[in-house]
Amino acid sequence: MPEGHTIHRLARDLAELHGSRLHASSPQGRFTAGAEAMDDALLERVEPFGKHLFLCMGTGGRLHVHLGMQGKWLRFEELGRPPLKQVRLRLATDRVAWDLIAPSTCELIDGEAMARVVSGLGPDPLRPDADAAAALAALGADPRPIGSALLDQGVIAGVGNVFRNEALHAVGVHPDRPARSMDAAALVELWQVLQRMMSQAVEDGRIITVEAVDRLAVPESEARRVYKQEHCRDCGAPITVSKVGGRTAYHCPVEQPL
Ligand SMILES: [Zn+2]
Repeated sequence: MPEGHTIHRLARDLAELHGSRLHASSPQGRFTAGAEAMDDALLERVEPFGKHLFLCMGTGGRLHVHLGMQGKWLRFEELGRPPLKQVRLRLATDRVAWDLIAPSTCELIDGEAMARVVSGLGPDPLRPDADAAAALAALGADPRPIGSALLDQGVIAGVGNVFRNEALHAVGVHPDRPARSMDAAALVELWQVLQRMMSQAVEDGRIITVEAVDRLAVPESEARRVYKQEHCRDCGAPITVSKVGGRTAYHCPVEQPL
Protein backbone atom coordinates (compact mmCIF):
# COMPACT_ATOMS: atom_id res chain seq x y z
CA MET A 1 0.00 0.00 0.00
CA PRO A 2 1.35 3.46 -0.79
CA GLU A 3 2.48 5.28 2.34
CA GLY A 4 2.48 9.03 2.91
CA HIS A 5 5.64 9.71 0.92
CA THR A 6 3.90 8.45 -2.25
CA ILE A 7 1.02 10.87 -1.75
CA HIS A 8 3.30 13.86 -1.09
CA ARG A 9 5.40 12.98 -4.13
CA LEU A 10 2.24 12.77 -6.23
CA ALA A 11 1.06 16.13 -4.92
CA ARG A 12 4.38 17.62 -5.99
CA ASP A 13 4.18 16.03 -9.45
CA LEU A 14 0.50 16.87 -9.96
CA ALA A 15 1.38 20.49 -9.24
CA GLU A 16 2.29 20.74 -12.93
CA LEU A 17 -1.49 21.01 -13.46
CA HIS A 18 -1.79 24.09 -11.20
CA GLY A 19 -3.46 26.96 -12.96
CA SER A 20 -4.64 24.76 -15.83
CA ARG A 21 -8.19 24.17 -16.90
CA LEU A 22 -8.68 20.44 -16.70
CA HIS A 23 -10.46 18.23 -19.15
CA ALA A 24 -11.93 15.52 -16.94
CA SER A 25 -13.39 12.23 -18.11
CA SER A 26 -14.10 8.76 -16.75
CA PRO A 27 -13.11 6.23 -19.43
CA GLN A 28 -14.24 3.41 -17.13
CA GLY A 29 -17.63 5.09 -16.66
CA ARG A 30 -17.64 4.75 -12.85
CA PHE A 31 -17.02 8.44 -12.18
CA THR A 32 -18.88 10.06 -15.06
CA ALA A 33 -20.97 12.50 -13.01
CA GLY A 34 -17.94 13.60 -10.96
CA ALA A 35 -15.82 14.05 -14.08
CA GLU A 36 -18.56 16.11 -15.74
CA ALA A 37 -18.79 18.31 -12.64
CA MET A 38 -15.00 18.86 -12.69
CA ASP A 39 -14.65 19.33 -16.42
CA ASP A 40 -13.13 22.69 -17.38
CA ALA A 41 -12.45 23.56 -13.72
CA LEU A 42 -9.28 25.39 -12.74
CA LEU A 43 -6.97 23.45 -10.42
CA GLU A 44 -5.92 25.79 -7.60
CA ARG A 45 -3.84 23.51 -5.41
CA VAL A 46 -3.14 19.93 -4.44
CA GLU A 47 -3.18 19.06 -0.74
CA PRO A 48 -1.74 15.82 0.64
CA PHE A 49 -2.80 14.77 4.15
CA GLY A 50 -1.35 11.42 5.19
CA LYS A 51 -2.54 8.89 2.63
CA HIS A 52 -5.31 11.21 1.34
CA LEU A 53 -4.97 13.51 -1.65
CA PHE A 54 -7.23 16.49 -2.36
CA LEU A 55 -7.30 18.36 -5.67
CA CYS A 56 -8.84 21.73 -4.91
CA MET A 57 -10.73 23.35 -7.78
CA GLY A 58 -11.56 26.99 -8.37
CA THR A 59 -15.23 25.98 -8.30
CA GLY A 60 -14.90 25.03 -4.60
CA GLY A 61 -15.07 21.32 -5.43
CA ARG A 62 -12.44 19.01 -3.97
CA LEU A 63 -11.49 15.75 -5.59
CA HIS A 64 -10.75 13.35 -2.72
CA VAL A 65 -8.57 10.38 -3.63
CA HIS A 66 -7.30 7.51 -1.50
CA LEU A 67 -5.25 4.95 -3.39
CA GLY A 68 -6.00 2.05 -1.02
CA MET A 69 -4.07 -1.14 -1.76
CA GLN A 70 -4.10 -1.07 -5.57
CA GLY A 71 -4.58 2.50 -6.69
CA LYS A 72 -2.13 4.49 -8.78
CA TRP A 73 -1.79 7.57 -10.98
CA LEU A 74 -0.11 7.24 -14.38
CA ARG A 75 1.22 10.16 -16.39
CA PHE A 76 1.11 10.33 -20.18
CA GLU A 77 2.36 12.84 -22.68
CA GLU A 78 1.10 10.94 -25.74
CA LEU A 79 -2.37 12.39 -25.63
CA GLY A 80 -3.47 10.70 -28.83
CA ARG A 81 -3.24 7.32 -27.15
CA PRO A 82 -6.66 6.20 -25.84
CA PRO A 83 -6.76 5.67 -22.05
CA LEU A 84 -6.85 2.17 -20.58
CA LYS A 85 -10.44 1.08 -20.06
CA GLN A 86 -9.95 0.72 -16.28
CA VAL A 87 -9.11 4.43 -15.86
CA ARG A 88 -11.53 5.83 -13.27
CA LEU A 89 -10.59 9.44 -13.98
CA ARG A 90 -8.45 11.14 -16.59
CA LEU A 91 -7.34 14.72 -15.96
CA ALA A 92 -5.83 16.22 -19.08
CA THR A 93 -4.49 19.52 -20.33
CA ASP A 94 -3.29 20.13 -23.87
CA ARG A 95 0.18 18.88 -22.78
CA VAL A 96 -0.27 16.01 -20.38
CA ALA A 97 -2.77 13.52 -19.00
CA TRP A 98 -2.92 11.96 -15.53
CA ASP A 99 -4.90 8.72 -15.26
CA LEU A 100 -6.24 7.44 -11.94
CA ILE A 101 -6.60 3.67 -11.74
CA ALA A 102 -8.19 1.49 -9.02
CA PRO A 103 -8.42 3.99 -6.14
CA SER A 104 -10.29 2.93 -3.00
CA THR A 105 -11.80 6.45 -2.84
CA CYS A 106 -12.49 8.85 -5.71
CA GLU A 107 -15.17 11.38 -4.88
CA LEU A 108 -15.99 15.00 -5.52
CA ILE A 109 -16.76 16.75 -2.24
CA ASP A 110 -16.92 20.30 -0.88
CA GLY A 111 -14.60 22.13 1.49
CA GLU A 112 -16.65 21.20 4.56
CA ALA A 113 -16.50 17.51 3.75
CA MET A 114 -12.76 17.81 3.15
CA ALA A 115 -12.36 19.42 6.57
CA ARG A 116 -14.23 16.50 8.13
CA VAL A 117 -11.88 13.97 6.51
CA VAL A 118 -8.83 15.95 7.60
CA SER A 119 -10.14 16.36 11.16
CA GLY A 120 -10.21 12.59 11.52
CA LEU A 121 -6.50 12.36 10.73
CA GLY A 122 -3.61 12.79 13.10
CA PRO A 123 -0.72 15.15 12.30
CA ASP A 124 1.21 14.27 9.14
CA PRO A 125 5.00 14.38 9.68
CA LEU A 126 5.47 15.49 6.07
CA ARG A 127 3.33 18.61 6.39
CA PRO A 128 5.07 21.80 7.49
CA ASP A 129 1.95 22.74 9.50
CA ALA A 130 1.89 19.42 11.39
CA ASP A 131 1.10 19.77 15.10
CA ALA A 132 3.89 17.60 16.48
CA ALA A 133 2.89 18.32 20.08
CA ALA A 134 -0.59 16.90 19.40
CA ALA A 135 0.87 13.72 17.90
CA LEU A 136 3.26 13.27 20.82
CA ALA A 137 0.49 13.86 23.36
CA ALA A 138 -1.72 11.27 21.64
CA LEU A 139 1.06 8.68 21.58
CA GLY A 140 2.05 9.43 25.15
CA ALA A 141 -1.49 8.62 26.34
CA ASP A 142 -2.02 5.57 24.13
CA PRO A 143 -2.17 2.23 25.98
CA ARG A 144 -1.71 0.21 22.78
CA PRO A 145 1.59 -1.19 21.57
CA ILE A 146 3.56 1.57 19.84
CA GLY A 147 3.59 -0.63 16.71
CA SER A 148 -0.23 -0.52 16.63
CA ALA A 149 -0.60 3.15 17.52
CA LEU A 150 1.73 4.17 14.68
CA LEU A 151 -0.53 2.49 12.11
CA ASP A 152 -3.60 4.39 13.37
CA GLN A 153 -4.10 7.23 10.86
CA GLY A 154 -6.03 9.14 13.54
CA VAL A 155 -2.85 9.33 15.66
CA ILE A 156 -0.23 10.05 13.00
CA ALA A 157 -1.20 10.28 9.32
CA GLY A 158 0.83 8.75 6.51
CA VAL A 159 2.74 6.03 8.37
CA GLY A 160 2.29 2.56 6.90
CA ASN A 161 3.89 -0.77 7.68
CA VAL A 162 7.32 -0.06 6.22
CA PHE A 163 7.79 3.26 8.02
CA ARG A 164 6.54 1.94 11.38
CA ASN A 165 8.95 -1.00 11.33
CA GLU A 166 11.93 1.00 10.12
CA ALA A 167 11.30 3.98 12.42
CA LEU A 168 10.94 1.78 15.53
CA HIS A 169 14.20 0.06 14.62
CA ALA A 170 15.90 3.43 14.13
CA VAL A 171 14.96 4.47 17.68
CA GLY A 172 15.57 1.02 19.21
CA VAL A 173 12.02 0.48 20.45
CA HIS A 174 10.22 -2.90 20.49
CA PRO A 175 6.92 -2.76 18.53
CA ASP A 176 5.00 -4.35 21.44
CA ARG A 177 6.04 -1.72 23.95
CA PRO A 178 3.02 0.29 25.17
CA ALA A 179 3.14 3.74 23.58
CA ARG A 180 2.39 5.49 26.86
CA SER A 181 5.40 3.85 28.53
CA MET A 182 7.77 5.80 26.29
CA ASP A 183 9.20 8.97 27.78
CA ALA A 184 8.83 12.37 26.15
CA ALA A 185 12.38 12.44 24.76
CA ALA A 186 11.93 9.03 23.08
CA LEU A 187 8.65 10.17 21.49
CA VAL A 188 10.27 13.36 20.18
CA GLU A 189 13.07 11.28 18.69
CA LEU A 190 10.52 8.94 17.05
CA TRP A 191 8.66 11.90 15.49
CA GLN A 192 11.92 13.37 14.18
CA VAL A 193 12.98 10.02 12.71
CA LEU A 194 9.61 9.73 10.95
CA GLN A 195 9.96 13.25 9.54
CA ARG A 196 13.46 12.55 8.29
CA MET A 197 12.74 9.08 6.90
CA MET A 198 9.51 10.11 5.19
CA SER A 199 11.03 13.29 3.70
CA GLN A 200 13.92 11.28 2.30
CA ALA A 201 11.41 8.85 0.75
CA VAL A 202 9.63 11.74 -0.98
CA GLU A 203 12.97 12.73 -2.51
CA ASP A 204 13.92 9.13 -3.43
CA GLY A 205 10.43 8.19 -4.67
CA ARG A 206 10.67 4.99 -2.55
CA ILE A 207 11.58 3.93 0.97
CA ILE A 208 15.33 3.41 1.37
CA THR A 209 16.57 3.31 4.96
CA VAL A 210 20.06 1.91 4.38
CA GLU A 211 23.01 4.17 3.65
CA ALA A 212 24.18 4.12 0.04
CA VAL A 213 26.17 6.41 -2.22
CA ASP A 214 23.94 5.61 -5.20
CA ARG A 215 20.62 5.40 -3.39
CA LEU A 216 18.44 4.64 -6.37
CA ALA A 217 20.66 1.69 -7.37
CA VAL A 218 19.81 -0.13 -4.12
CA PRO A 219 17.65 -3.17 -4.96
CA GLU A 220 14.18 -3.14 -3.37
CA SER A 221 14.96 -6.31 -1.37
CA GLU A 222 17.99 -4.64 0.25
CA ALA A 223 16.60 -1.16 0.81
CA ARG A 224 15.45 -1.65 4.45
CA ARG A 225 17.18 -2.49 7.71
CA VAL A 226 14.52 -4.79 9.22
CA TYR A 227 11.37 -4.77 7.05
CA LYS A 228 11.15 -8.11 5.20
CA GLN A 229 14.78 -8.85 6.09
CA GLU A 230 16.05 -12.18 7.45
CA HIS A 231 18.90 -10.56 9.34
CA CYS A 232 19.22 -7.09 10.82
CA ARG A 233 21.19 -4.94 8.42
CA ASP A 234 22.88 -3.17 11.37
CA CYS A 235 23.98 -6.02 13.65
CA GLY A 236 23.24 -9.23 11.73
CA ALA A 237 20.86 -10.69 14.34
CA PRO A 238 18.02 -12.83 12.97
CA ILE A 239 14.92 -10.64 12.59
CA THR A 240 11.88 -11.47 14.74
CA VAL A 241 8.63 -11.58 12.79
CA SER A 242 5.31 -11.11 14.63
CA LYS A 243 1.84 -9.61 14.24
CA VAL A 244 1.33 -6.16 15.71
CA GLY A 245 -1.79 -4.11 14.99
CA GLY A 246 -2.96 -6.72 12.48
CA ARG A 247 0.08 -6.30 10.23
CA THR A 248 3.38 -8.16 10.05
CA ALA A 249 6.00 -6.56 12.27
CA TYR A 250 9.76 -7.00 11.90
CA HIS A 251 12.20 -6.08 14.62
CA CYS A 252 15.77 -6.71 15.72
CA PRO A 253 15.74 -8.58 19.08
CA VAL A 254 19.18 -7.21 19.95
CA GLU A 255 18.65 -3.51 19.23
CA GLN A 256 14.93 -3.41 20.10
CA PRO A 257 14.55 -5.27 23.42
CA LEU A 258 11.14 -5.23 25.13
ZN1 LIG B 1 20.16 -5.26 14.87
